[in-house]
Amino acid sequence: MKTFCGRANPTTGAMEWLEEDENYDYHQEIARSRYADMLHDKDRNVKYYQGIRAAVSRVKERGEKAIVLDIGTGTGLLSMMAASAGADFCYAIEVFKPMANAAVKIVEKNGFRDKIKVINKHSTEVTVGPDGDMQCRANILVTELFDTELIGEGALPTYEHAHKYLVQEGCEAVPHRATVYVQLVESKRMWSWNKLFPVHVEAEDGEKIIVSPSEMENCPGVPSVCDIQLNQMPSRDFTILSDVVTMFSVDFSKPVRSASTYYRVQLEPVKSGKAQIVLSWWDIDMDPSGMINCTMAPYWVKSTSAFQWRDHWMQCVYFLPNEEPVLQGEKVYLTACRDEYSVWYTLQKASPENKAAISVESPVCRCQAHLLWNRPRFGQLNDQNRTSQYIKSLMKVLKTDSVCLCISDGSLLPVLAHYLGAKQVFTLENSSVSRSVMEKFFKANHLEDKIKIIEARPELLTSSHLEDKKISVLVGEPFFTTSLLPWHNLYFWYARTAVTSHLASNVTVLPQSASLHMMIVEFQDLWRIRSPCGTCEGFDVQTMDDMIKNSLNFRESKEAEPHPLWEYPCKSLSDPQEVLTFDFRKTVPQHSLSTEGSVNLLRKGKSHGAVLWMEYHLAADISVSTGLLQISNEKGNCEWNPHCKQAVYFFSSVIESETLSDIPSAVTYAINFNTKTGDIAMDFKLL
Ligand code: SAH
Repeated sequence: MKTFCGRANPTTGAMEWLEEDENYDYHQEIARSRYADMLHDKDRNVKYYQGIRAAVSRVKERGEKAIVLDIGTGTGLLSMMAASAGADFCYAIEVFKPMANAAVKIVEKNGFRDKIKVINKHSTEVTVGPDGDMQCRANILVTELFDTELIGEGALPTYEHAHKYLVQEGCEAVPHRATVYVQLVESKRMWSWNKLFPVHVEAEDGEKIIVSPSEMENCPGVPSVCDIQLNQMPSRDFTILSDVVTMFSVDFSKPVRSASTYYRVQLEPVKSGKAQIVLSWWDIDMDPSGMINCTMAPYWVKSTSAFQWRDHWMQCVYFLPNEEPVLQGEKVYLTACRDEYSVWYTLQKASPENKAAISVESPVCRCQAHLLWNRPRFGQLNDQNRTSQYIKSLMKVLKTDSVCLCISDGSLLPVLAHYLGAKQVFTLENSSVSRSVMEKFFKANHLEDKIKIIEARPELLTSSHLEDKKISVLVGEPFFTTSLLPWHNLYFWYARTAVTSHLASNVTVLPQSASLHMMIVEFQDLWRIRSPCGTCEGFDVQTMDDMIKNSLNFRESKEAEPHPLWEYPCKSLSDPQEVLTFDFRKTVPQHSLSTEGSVNLLRKGKSHGAVLWMEYHLAADISVSTGLLQISNEKGNCEWNPHCKQAVYFFSSVIESETLSDIPSAVTYAINFNTKTGDIAMDFKLL
């Protein structure tokens, strides 16, 4: 059987549907899954085990048999804990077939074959009765169905169903309860991920300010959760406006309702400021007493000694629909609305008299900008430092008779080019969403007659689109919404090649070139997500390690993966090295570009992998980096561009070995850019 998988093609900038082996999808899912990260989460595992032991004891003390229902068993871990704690029988439910198969193997290997029945079904399909999947209802309900937003993976409907059909009344639940906490903050940095700020342009005829359409300013944005490693957000980047308060909690031992609802708290700001952001996280109490607590609270709330790094549960950033000035001591009301799968927030100055005044509608982007620009992209467009590099470069290359064509998705470059004196500006907008957003944008700035939007793919560009003019300045950031890895924005080069016949013979291309850079790093924590687990709380889960390894090797060559490294601290072990350059003044060559070499390791540390990123050379002496910004101290701590994802290639040999016999002194690399596919293949060896 074959399946179709969506993938961006860097040579066309488009999403393509490729026919893949039926195993492809699930190998991807396993290779990139969070199972390894969960198994490494010692704090989580220990507390689940404590909670499960306590629940089994309580049931036994009542003289009952302990019958466990483990929904979403994954590796079977929680069921094995229950069986070890003395449970009489466990029903381990897992919907994902490859995981259910792995659970069967793991359960058997650990000797729990008689105690644990793995059922490969969604819990809502499970039947109870003499001929059913379960002989009888369970009296212990164990689950780990939570995401960073708590309910995003469908925990509520699953619990609702389980209480109705699969467990006894008065059952013990592990976890017993979850509580969601919030804190109101002002943060220009985080607010810049959701709203476009006015952009200042110093032009020859005075300062111009690019503004957003009011529709954009008042748009509530998109409902998808913004989950980040909040512990990497320095305290100087936000101002706390309220204490931490409990927003709502869910008791998992009682019937759970998943229907949409809302919760309201009164807040007394501890500081005056602009309420923009609600930071949120949760904790779970594994037992009714609350003595076994596992919390996602960030660094300023809990002591660092209790700190456990994890990537499968982080913290949430919610954007209020509008910023709201608040005064210290003057009470406000914060409302959390939720449906079955997501949460959103609104702030009121006065307590709404009638319930109808509460909006329970989930935020929907009305302005389309939130569909075109994701949160890092908003941050990037709001980065005035970055913008000023483009302004400086444009000033260098633009002349009063310049005819300018911009190729980038939803870019402000055409506006900059116009204000900085180009005679005529065209912009290629590939999709109807980007065309529509740019139209609104130009209108709000009274530029609708000044900049011409062409909704065509580069290869379909005609002279009539360009009013029979030749392009003297071709510009791109470059940025394309389909890019996943840094080099996917090389689509600009392909587009430049496709429009060659429309370029003047003395055309200036901005950026004139790009380069791929590489550095060997040691991660503080990120390596864990790709590291095998072996045993977890005494249970042999190597089958899982093997399965992940097998999935990673499913494609002959391992691939680099995108990660926003500002969230994942690392230190450099080598100097950054330029490994390939791409000359945009020329067309894409027929042959591939490859390079080989070696980098010396300058610092002691574990070479977890190589980080790769692109730099764009806009004009003479002006470059922007999408990766490393600087190495901040002698320890090699790195500062990364906060608006881009970098490519990480993990060295499995290092990550998998506990101890290194020989500390490598250098790393050799072979990197190949296939101009036919737009992909970069790489290979590294530690010497
Ligand atoms: N219990 C394991 C794994 C947790 S990950 C551990 O704690 O280590 C959650 C798992 O639940 C995933 O494997 C997912 O496929 C499965 N899952 C989620 N909702 C489910 C449902 N309603 N029925 C069955 N499986 C479910």
